[in-house]
Amino acid sequence: MNQFALVDPGDLELLADTLTTLAEGHSTLPAVDVSSSDNVDPSVMHSVLQHIATLMHDNYPYAHPLYAGQMLKPPHPIARIAYQAAMWVNPNNHALDGGRASSAMEKEAVANIASMFGLDRYLGHLTSSGTLANLEALWVAREEHPGKLLVSSQDAHYTHSRLSAVLGIEHVAIATDSEGRIDIDALEALAIQGRIGTVVATAGTTSFGTVDPIRKIIALAATHGFRVHVDAAYGGYFRLATALNEQHQAEFLSISHADSIAIDPHKHGLQPYGCGCVLFADPDVGQHYQHDSPYTYFTSDELHLGEISLECSRAGAAAVALWATQQALPMTTDGQFAEGLNQSVTAAQDLYARLLKSDWFTPVQAPDLDIVVWVVNAPSASTASALAQTVFDIAADNDLHLALTTVSADRVPASLGFEQDGNVTCLRSCLMKPEHLEWMPEIWARLERATHEALR
Ligand SMILES: *Cc1c(COP(=O)(O)O)cnc(C)c1O
Repeated sequence: MNQFALVDPGDLELLADTLTTLAEGHSTLPAVDVSSSDNVDPSVMHSVLQHIATLMHDNYPYAHPLYAGQMLKPPHPIARIAYQAAMWVNPNNHALDGGRASSAMEKEAVANIASMFGLDRYLGHLTSSGTLANLEALWVAREEHPGKLLVSSQDAHYTHSRLSAVLGIEHVAIATDSEGRIDIDALEALAIQGRIGTVVATAGTTSFGTVDPIRKIIALAATHGFRVHVDAAYGGYFRLATALNEQHQAEFLSISHADSIAIDPHKHGLQPYGCGCVLFADPDVGQHYQHDSPYTYFTSDELHLGEISLECSRAGAAAVALWATQQALPMTTDGQFAEGLNQSVTAAQDLYARLLKSDWFTPVQAPDLDIVVWVVNAPSASTASALAQTVFDIAADNDLHLALTTVSADRVPASLGFEQDGNVTCLRSCLMKPEHLEWMPEIWARLERATHEALR
Protein backbone atom coordinates (compact mmCIF):
# COMPACT_ATOMS: atom_id res chain seq x y z
CA MET A 1 0.00 0.00 0.00
CA ASN A 2 1.31 3.43 -0.88
CA GLN A 3 0.42 5.44 2.17
CA PHE A 4 1.47 8.73 0.59
CA ALA A 5 -1.12 8.46 -2.15
CA LEU A 6 -4.24 10.10 -0.87
CA VAL A 7 -6.37 7.54 -2.66
CA ASP A 8 -5.47 3.92 -2.38
CA PRO A 9 -7.69 1.73 -4.60
CA GLY A 10 -7.72 -0.90 -1.86
CA ASP A 11 -9.01 1.69 0.61
CA LEU A 12 -11.83 2.69 -1.74
CA GLU A 13 -12.82 -0.96 -2.04
CA LEU A 14 -12.85 -1.31 1.74
CA LEU A 15 -15.00 1.81 2.03
CA ALA A 16 -17.43 0.52 -0.62
CA ASP A 17 -17.73 -2.85 1.16
CA THR A 18 -18.30 -1.10 4.48
CA LEU A 19 -21.01 1.13 3.01
CA THR A 20 -22.71 -1.84 1.35
CA THR A 21 -23.02 -3.63 4.68
CA LEU A 22 -24.04 -0.39 6.38
CA ALA A 23 -26.87 0.09 3.88
CA GLU A 24 -28.32 -3.31 4.84
CA GLY A 25 -29.23 -1.83 8.21
CA HIS A 26 -32.50 -0.12 7.31
CA SER A 27 -33.30 -2.10 4.19
CA THR A 28 -36.97 -2.56 5.09
CA LEU A 29 -37.72 1.16 4.71
CA PRO A 30 -39.56 2.17 1.54
CA ALA A 31 -37.38 3.71 -1.18
CA VAL A 32 -37.25 7.51 -1.31
CA ASP A 33 -36.96 9.65 -4.40
CA VAL A 34 -34.24 12.16 -3.45
CA SER A 35 -34.07 13.82 -6.87
CA SER A 36 -35.81 16.94 -5.59
CA SER A 37 -33.71 17.45 -2.44
CA ASP A 38 -30.42 16.10 -3.78
CA ASN A 39 -30.67 17.62 -7.23
CA VAL A 40 -27.24 19.05 -7.96
CA ASP A 41 -26.20 17.99 -11.45
CA PRO A 42 -23.37 15.38 -11.24
CA SER A 43 -21.34 17.36 -13.74
CA VAL A 44 -21.51 20.40 -11.45
CA MET A 45 -20.47 18.27 -8.50
CA HIS A 46 -17.61 16.89 -10.61
CA SER A 47 -16.32 20.29 -11.56
CA VAL A 48 -16.58 21.70 -8.01
CA LEU A 49 -14.78 18.66 -6.66
CA GLN A 50 -12.05 18.90 -9.30
CA HIS A 51 -11.64 22.51 -8.30
CA ILE A 52 -11.19 21.76 -4.61
CA ALA A 53 -8.74 18.98 -5.48
CA THR A 54 -6.62 21.54 -7.31
CA LEU A 55 -7.00 24.16 -4.59
CA MET A 56 -5.82 21.61 -2.04
CA HIS A 57 -2.47 21.37 -3.83
CA ASP A 58 -1.73 24.44 -1.74
CA ASN A 59 -0.70 22.40 1.29
CA TYR A 60 2.50 20.91 2.53
CA PRO A 61 2.82 17.14 1.90
CA TYR A 62 1.95 16.29 5.52
CA ALA A 63 1.85 12.53 5.02
CA HIS A 64 5.34 12.28 3.50
CA PRO A 65 8.38 11.64 5.75
CA LEU A 66 10.11 14.66 4.17
CA TYR A 67 7.43 16.72 5.89
CA ALA A 68 9.17 16.93 9.28
CA GLY A 69 7.89 20.28 10.50
CA GLN A 70 4.84 20.96 12.65
CA MET A 71 2.67 18.52 14.61
CA LEU A 72 0.95 16.81 11.72
CA LYS A 73 0.52 13.07 11.44
CA PRO A 74 -1.65 11.37 8.83
CA PRO A 75 -4.66 9.46 10.13
CA HIS A 76 -4.35 5.72 9.71
CA PRO A 77 -6.26 4.35 6.67
CA ILE A 78 -8.62 2.45 8.98
CA ALA A 79 -9.47 5.70 10.75
CA ARG A 80 -10.16 7.50 7.45
CA ILE A 81 -12.33 4.68 6.14
CA ALA A 82 -14.24 4.23 9.40
CA TYR A 83 -14.77 7.99 9.67
CA GLN A 84 -16.11 8.28 6.13
CA ALA A 85 -18.36 5.25 6.46
CA ALA A 86 -19.77 6.53 9.77
CA MET A 87 -20.24 9.96 8.24
CA TRP A 88 -22.75 8.48 5.81
CA VAL A 89 -24.94 8.02 8.91
CA ASN A 90 -23.54 11.25 10.48
CA PRO A 91 -24.32 10.31 14.08
CA ASN A 92 -24.28 12.96 16.83
CA ASN A 93 -22.70 11.69 20.03
CA HIS A 94 -24.42 14.31 22.14
CA ALA A 95 -27.25 11.89 22.91
CA LEU A 96 -28.02 8.22 22.41
CA ASP A 97 -30.92 9.25 20.18
CA GLY A 98 -28.40 10.90 17.86
CA GLY A 99 -25.95 8.04 17.75
CA ARG A 100 -26.56 4.82 19.63
CA ALA A 101 -23.81 2.65 18.15
CA SER A 102 -21.26 5.45 17.98
CA SER A 103 -21.94 6.43 21.63
CA ALA A 104 -21.30 2.83 22.68
CA MET A 105 -18.06 2.88 20.66
CA GLU A 106 -17.06 6.17 22.30
CA LYS A 107 -17.54 4.72 25.78
CA GLU A 108 -15.36 1.73 24.87
CA ALA A 109 -12.70 3.82 23.14
CA VAL A 110 -12.50 6.15 26.16
CA ALA A 111 -12.34 3.15 28.52
CA ASN A 112 -9.34 1.91 26.52
CA ILE A 113 -7.58 5.27 26.89
CA ALA A 114 -8.38 5.35 30.62
CA SER A 115 -6.97 1.87 31.00
CA MET A 116 -3.79 2.88 29.13
CA PHE A 117 -3.31 5.48 31.90
CA GLY A 118 -4.13 2.95 34.61
CA LEU A 119 -7.45 4.51 35.69
CA ASP A 120 -10.13 1.95 36.65
CA ARG A 121 -12.68 4.42 38.03
CA TYR A 122 -13.01 7.53 35.91
CA LEU A 123 -15.41 9.80 34.10
CA GLY A 124 -14.52 10.78 30.55
CA HIS A 125 -15.54 11.34 26.98
CA LEU A 126 -14.23 12.50 23.63
CA THR A 127 -14.11 16.20 22.75
CA SER A 128 -13.63 18.09 19.51
CA SER A 129 -10.06 19.03 20.46
CA GLY A 130 -7.38 19.17 23.11
CA THR A 131 -8.32 22.77 23.82
CA LEU A 132 -11.88 21.76 24.69
CA ALA A 133 -10.62 18.83 26.78
CA ASN A 134 -8.42 21.28 28.70
CA LEU A 135 -11.27 23.80 29.00
CA GLU A 136 -13.47 21.19 30.56
CA ALA A 137 -10.78 20.04 32.98
CA LEU A 138 -10.02 23.64 34.03
CA TRP A 139 -13.73 24.37 34.45
CA VAL A 140 -14.13 21.37 36.77
CA ALA A 141 -10.93 22.46 38.56
CA ARG A 142 -12.45 25.91 39.14
CA GLU A 143 -15.67 24.38 40.47
CA GLU A 144 -13.67 22.17 42.85
CA HIS A 145 -11.36 24.95 44.07
CA PRO A 146 -13.16 28.26 43.52
CA GLY A 147 -11.08 31.43 43.88
CA LYS A 148 -7.75 29.63 43.82
CA LEU A 149 -4.88 29.87 41.36
CA LEU A 150 -4.27 27.85 38.24
CA VAL A 151 -0.54 27.28 37.80
CA SER A 152 1.34 25.97 34.80
CA SER A 153 4.87 26.40 33.44
CA GLN A 154 5.74 29.10 30.94
CA ASP A 155 6.12 26.35 28.34
CA ALA A 156 2.58 25.03 28.87
CA HIS A 157 0.24 25.38 25.89
CA TYR A 158 -0.69 29.03 25.37
CA THR A 159 -4.39 28.22 25.66
CA HIS A 160 -4.12 27.60 29.42
CA SER A 161 -3.76 31.30 30.11
CA ARG A 162 -6.49 32.12 27.60
CA LEU A 163 -8.85 29.48 28.99
CA SER A 164 -8.17 30.79 32.50
CA ALA A 165 -9.27 34.23 31.31
CA VAL A 166 -12.43 32.72 29.78
CA LEU A 167 -13.18 30.94 33.06
CA GLY A 168 -12.22 33.89 35.25
CA ILE A 169 -9.43 31.97 36.98
CA GLU A 170 -6.22 33.71 38.01
CA HIS A 171 -3.38 32.03 36.09
CA VAL A 172 0.27 32.00 37.12
CA ALA A 173 2.98 30.82 34.70
CA ILE A 174 6.08 29.54 36.49
CA ALA A 175 9.47 29.73 34.79
CA THR A 176 11.03 26.59 33.38
CA ASP A 177 14.42 25.23 34.37
CA SER A 178 17.30 24.81 31.89
CA GLU A 179 15.70 21.61 30.57
CA GLY A 180 12.35 23.27 29.90
CA ARG A 181 10.55 21.69 32.87
CA ILE A 182 8.48 23.57 35.41
CA ASP A 183 10.78 24.93 38.14
CA ILE A 184 9.74 22.63 40.96
CA ASP A 185 11.29 24.79 43.71
CA ALA A 186 9.37 27.84 42.52
CA LEU A 187 6.22 25.73 42.42
CA GLU A 188 6.79 24.53 45.97
CA ALA A 189 7.41 28.07 47.19
CA LEU A 190 4.06 29.10 45.75
CA ALA A 191 2.31 25.98 47.06
CA ILE A 192 3.44 26.77 50.62
CA GLN A 193 1.41 29.99 50.44
CA GLY A 194 -1.70 27.79 50.07
CA ARG A 195 -3.24 29.66 47.15
CA ILE A 196 -2.90 27.04 44.41
CA GLY A 197 -6.11 25.34 43.30
CA THR A 198 -4.74 23.37 40.36
CA VAL A 199 -1.41 22.72 38.69
CA VAL A 200 -1.25 21.88 35.00
CA ALA A 201 1.60 19.42 34.35
CA THR A 202 2.48 19.08 30.68
CA ALA A 203 3.36 15.60 29.42
CA GLY A 204 5.11 16.75 26.26
CA THR A 205 5.19 20.51 25.70
CA THR A 206 4.08 21.77 22.33
CA SER A 207 7.37 23.46 21.45
CA PHE A 208 9.95 20.99 22.78
CA GLY A 209 8.05 17.84 23.73
CA THR A 210 9.38 18.27 27.27
CA VAL A 211 7.83 16.19 30.05
CA ASP A 212 7.24 18.05 33.33
CA PRO A 213 8.33 16.36 36.62
CA ILE A 214 4.86 14.84 37.09
CA ARG A 215 5.89 12.61 40.01
CA LYS A 216 7.22 15.56 42.00
CA ILE A 217 4.13 17.64 41.19
CA ILE A 218 1.88 14.82 42.38
CA ALA A 219 3.92 14.52 45.59
CA LEU A 220 3.53 18.28 46.20
CA ALA A 221 -0.20 17.97 45.55
CA ALA A 222 -0.46 15.32 48.27
CA THR A 223 1.16 17.72 50.75
CA HIS A 224 -0.55 20.94 49.71
CA GLY A 225 -3.96 19.71 48.57
CA PHE A 226 -4.09 21.14 45.05
CA ARG A 227 -5.47 19.34 41.99
CA VAL A 228 -3.22 18.09 39.20
CA HIS A 229 -4.35 18.28 35.60
CA VAL A 230 -2.02 16.57 33.13
CA ASP A 231 -2.08 18.15 29.69
CA ALA A 232 -1.07 15.09 27.68
CA ALA A 233 -2.69 16.43 24.50
CA TYR A 234 0.55 15.92 22.62
CA GLY A 235 2.42 13.29 24.60
CA GLY A 236 -0.23 11.05 26.19
CA TYR A 237 0.24 8.06 23.93
CA PHE A 238 3.97 7.94 24.80
CA ARG A 239 2.75 6.15 27.92
CA LEU A 240 3.21 3.10 25.65
CA ALA A 241 6.69 3.96 24.34
CA THR A 242 9.41 1.76 25.81
CA ALA A 243 12.06 3.67 23.82
CA LEU A 244 11.76 6.57 26.31
CA ASN A 245 14.38 6.69 29.02
CA GLU A 246 13.37 5.21 32.37
CA GLN A 247 12.83 8.56 34.03
CA HIS A 248 10.29 9.64 31.44
CA GLN A 249 8.58 6.27 31.44
CA ALA A 250 8.14 6.72 35.19
CA GLU A 251 6.65 10.19 34.65
CA PHE A 252 4.08 8.74 32.25
CA LEU A 253 3.26 5.93 34.69
CA SER A 254 2.55 8.50 37.41
CA ILE A 255 -0.20 10.11 35.30
CA SER A 256 -2.48 7.49 36.87
CA HIS A 257 -2.42 9.68 40.03
CA ALA A 258 -3.61 12.85 38.30
CA ASP A 259 -7.07 14.34 38.92
CA SER A 260 -7.70 14.94 35.24
CA ILE A 261 -6.03 14.26 31.90
CA ALA A 262 -6.39 15.71 28.40
CA ILE A 263 -5.14 13.68 25.43
CA ASP A 264 -5.52 14.24 21.69
CA PRO A 265 -6.17 11.14 19.57
CA HIS A 266 -5.93 13.53 16.59
CA LYS A 267 -2.27 14.21 17.42
CA HIS A 268 -0.52 10.88 18.06
CA GLY A 269 -3.54 8.56 17.96
CA LEU A 270 -3.76 8.33 14.15
CA GLN A 271 -7.13 10.14 14.02
CA PRO A 272 -8.53 12.83 11.73
CA TYR A 273 -9.00 16.24 13.37
CA GLY A 274 -11.92 16.59 15.71
CA CYS A 275 -10.83 14.05 18.32
CA GLY A 276 -9.67 15.04 21.80
CA CYS A 277 -10.42 13.31 25.10
CA VAL A 278 -10.81 14.35 28.72
CA LEU A 279 -10.65 12.02 31.72
CA PHE A 280 -11.41 12.66 35.40
CA ALA A 281 -10.17 10.33 38.12
CA ASP A 282 -13.19 11.06 40.33
CA PRO A 283 -16.50 10.20 38.61
CA ASP A 284 -18.31 12.41 41.16
CA VAL A 285 -17.23 15.52 39.27
CA GLY A 286 -20.15 14.60 37.00
CA GLN A 287 -22.34 16.60 39.41
CA HIS A 288 -20.97 19.84 37.94
CA TYR A 289 -22.57 19.11 34.60
CA GLN A 290 -26.16 18.97 35.77
CA HIS A 291 -28.52 20.92 33.58
CA ASP A 292 -32.07 20.48 32.34
CA SER A 293 -32.07 21.92 28.88
CA PRO A 294 -35.52 21.68 27.33
CA TYR A 295 -33.94 21.23 23.92
CA THR A 296 -32.05 18.05 24.51
CA TYR A 297 -33.57 14.73 23.76
CA PHE A 298 -32.45 12.41 26.50
CA THR A 299 -35.03 9.67 26.23
CA SER A 300 -33.53 6.80 28.21
CA ASP A 301 -32.04 6.24 31.64
CA GLU A 302 -28.76 5.13 30.13
CA LEU A 303 -25.89 7.63 30.23
CA HIS A 304 -26.00 10.07 27.33
CA LEU A 305 -22.57 11.54 26.63
CA GLY A 306 -24.12 14.99 26.47
CA GLU A 307 -24.91 14.69 30.18
CA ILE A 308 -21.21 14.71 31.00
CA SER A 309 -19.78 17.14 28.47
CA LEU A 310 -19.65 20.87 27.91
CA GLU A 311 -20.03 20.56 24.16
CA CYS A 312 -23.39 19.67 22.71
CA SER A 313 -23.27 18.26 19.15
CA ARG A 314 -20.14 16.26 18.40
CA ALA A 315 -19.13 14.00 15.50
CA GLY A 316 -20.03 10.39 16.27
CA ALA A 317 -17.83 9.51 13.29
CA ALA A 318 -14.79 10.54 15.36
CA ALA A 319 -15.67 7.90 17.95
CA VAL A 320 -16.21 5.23 15.29
CA ALA A 321 -12.83 6.02 13.70
CA LEU A 322 -11.04 5.88 17.06
CA TRP A 323 -12.75 2.64 18.08
CA ALA A 324 -11.88 1.02 14.73
CA THR A 325 -8.25 2.12 15.04
CA GLN A 326 -7.98 0.71 18.56
CA GLN A 327 -9.35 -2.64 17.32
CA ALA A 328 -6.82 -2.85 14.48
CA LEU A 329 -3.90 -1.38 16.43
CA PRO A 330 -4.38 -2.19 20.13
CA MET A 331 -2.79 0.19 22.64
CA THR A 332 -0.28 -2.19 24.18
CA THR A 333 3.38 -1.57 24.89
CA ASP A 334 4.42 -4.45 22.61
CA GLY A 335 2.11 -3.80 19.66
CA GLN A 336 2.52 -2.15 16.27
CA PHE A 337 1.02 1.12 17.50
CA ALA A 338 3.59 1.47 20.30
CA GLU A 339 6.33 0.42 17.87
CA GLY A 340 5.43 3.42 15.71
CA LEU A 341 5.85 5.72 18.72
CA ASN A 342 9.17 4.07 19.57
CA GLN A 343 10.39 4.71 16.03
CA SER A 344 9.50 8.40 16.39
CA VAL A 345 11.46 8.60 19.65
CA THR A 346 14.44 6.83 18.08
CA ALA A 347 14.29 9.13 15.04
CA ALA A 348 14.49 12.14 17.38
CA GLN A 349 17.46 10.63 19.24
CA ASP A 350 19.13 9.94 15.90
CA LEU A 351 18.65 13.54 14.74
CA TYR A 352 19.86 14.85 18.12
CA ALA A 353 23.04 12.74 17.89
CA ARG A 354 23.73 14.05 14.37
CA LEU A 355 23.21 17.66 15.52
CA LEU A 356 25.61 17.17 18.44
CA LYS A 357 28.33 15.94 16.08
CA SER A 358 27.78 18.63 13.46
CA ASP A 359 29.84 21.84 13.29
CA TRP A 360 26.88 23.71 11.85
CA PHE A 361 24.24 23.18 14.51
CA THR A 362 23.64 23.19 18.28
CA PRO A 363 20.59 21.37 19.66
CA VAL A 364 18.74 23.41 22.29
CA GLN A 365 18.14 20.39 24.53
CA ALA A 366 17.99 16.60 24.35
CA PRO A 367 14.58 15.42 23.19
CA ASP A 368 12.31 13.75 25.77
CA LEU A 369 9.89 12.56 23.06
CA ASP A 370 10.03 13.09 19.29
CA ILE A 371 10.54 16.86 18.91
CA VAL A 372 13.97 18.34 18.21
CA VAL A 373 14.87 22.06 18.24
CA TRP A 374 18.25 23.39 17.14
CA VAL A 375 20.21 26.56 16.47
CA VAL A 376 22.23 27.22 13.30
CA ASN A 377 25.64 28.17 14.69
CA ALA A 378 26.56 31.82 14.15
CA PRO A 379 28.41 34.62 15.96
CA SER A 380 25.19 36.26 17.15
CA ALA A 381 21.57 35.44 17.84
CA SER A 382 20.40 37.66 15.01
CA THR A 383 22.67 35.98 12.45
CA ALA A 384 21.62 32.55 13.74
CA SER A 385 17.97 33.57 13.36
CA ALA A 386 18.45 34.81 9.81
CA LEU A 387 20.33 31.63 8.90
CA ALA A 388 17.58 29.43 10.36
CA GLN A 389 15.06 31.22 8.13
CA THR A 390 17.29 30.77 5.06
CA VAL A 391 17.88 27.07 5.76
CA PHE A 392 14.14 26.63 6.28
CA ASP A 393 13.39 28.25 2.89
CA ILE A 394 16.08 26.41 0.93
CA ALA A 395 15.13 23.07 2.50
CA ALA A 396 11.47 23.67 1.58
CA ASP A 397 12.48 24.42 -2.02
CA ASN A 398 14.12 21.00 -1.95
CA ASP A 399 11.06 19.25 -0.50
CA LEU A 400 12.31 19.00 3.08
CA HIS A 401 9.76 20.75 5.28
CA LEU A 402 10.92 21.83 8.74
CA ALA A 403 9.40 24.31 11.20
CA LEU A 404 10.75 27.47 12.83
CA THR A 405 10.34 28.39 16.47
CA THR A 406 11.38 31.38 18.54
CA VAL A 407 13.31 30.55 21.70
CA SER A 408 14.38 32.97 24.40
CA ALA A 409 18.16 33.47 24.14
CA ASP A 410 18.75 32.41 27.75
CA ARG A 411 17.36 28.96 26.86
CA VAL A 412 19.98 28.09 24.22
CA PRO A 413 23.32 26.54 25.26
CA ALA A 414 25.79 29.09 26.70
CA SER A 415 28.49 27.60 24.44
CA LEU A 416 26.92 29.60 21.60
CA GLY A 417 28.01 32.79 23.38
CA PHE A 418 24.82 34.71 22.54
CA GLU A 419 23.74 37.79 24.46
CA GLN A 420 21.18 36.63 27.08
CA ASP A 421 18.34 39.00 26.28
CA GLY A 422 16.27 38.70 23.14
CA ASN A 423 15.22 35.69 21.11
CA VAL A 424 16.74 33.21 18.69
CA THR A 425 14.85 31.69 15.77
CA CYS A 426 15.55 27.98 15.75
CA LEU A 427 14.74 25.10 13.44
CA ARG A 428 12.29 22.58 14.82
CA SER A 429 11.19 19.15 13.72
CA CYS A 430 8.30 16.99 14.99
CA LEU A 431 9.20 13.45 13.96
CA MET A 432 5.71 12.04 14.41
CA LYS A 433 5.72 9.49 11.62
CA PRO A 434 7.35 6.08 12.20
CA GLU A 435 8.90 6.42 8.71
CA HIS A 436 10.97 9.34 9.94
CA LEU A 437 13.43 6.86 11.43
CA GLU A 438 14.14 5.13 8.12
CA TRP A 439 14.23 8.48 6.32
CA MET A 440 16.60 10.20 8.76
CA PRO A 441 19.71 9.77 6.53
CA GLU A 442 17.79 11.40 3.65
CA ILE A 443 16.39 14.16 5.90
CA TRP A 444 19.89 14.82 7.23
CA ALA A 445 21.45 14.90 3.74
CA ARG A 446 18.88 17.47 2.61
CA LEU A 447 19.35 19.54 5.77
CA GLU A 448 23.13 19.57 5.23
CA ARG A 449 22.75 20.54 1.57
CA ALA A 450 20.37 23.38 2.46
CA THR A 451 22.72 24.62 5.20
CA HIS A 452 25.74 24.40 2.91
CA GLU A 453 23.89 26.58 0.43
CA ALA A 454 22.70 29.01 3.13
CA LEU A 455 26.27 29.52 4.40
CA ARG A 456 27.73 30.21 0.94
C1 LIG B 1 -1.99 20.61 20.75
C2 LIG B 1 -1.98 20.88 22.18
C3 LIG B 1 -3.08 21.46 22.81
C4 LIG B 1 -4.28 21.95 22.04
O1 LIG B 1 -4.96 20.89 21.44
P1 LIG B 1 -5.85 21.12 20.12
O2 LIG B 1 -6.33 19.75 19.82
O3 LIG B 1 -4.94 21.68 19.08
O4 LIG B 1 -6.94 22.06 20.48
C5 LIG B 1 -3.03 21.62 24.18
N1 LIG B 1 -1.94 21.24 24.89
C6 LIG B 1 -0.87 20.68 24.30
C7 LIG B 1 0.31 20.27 25.16
C8 LIG B 1 -0.84 20.47 22.92
O5 LIG B 1 0.25 19.96 22.34
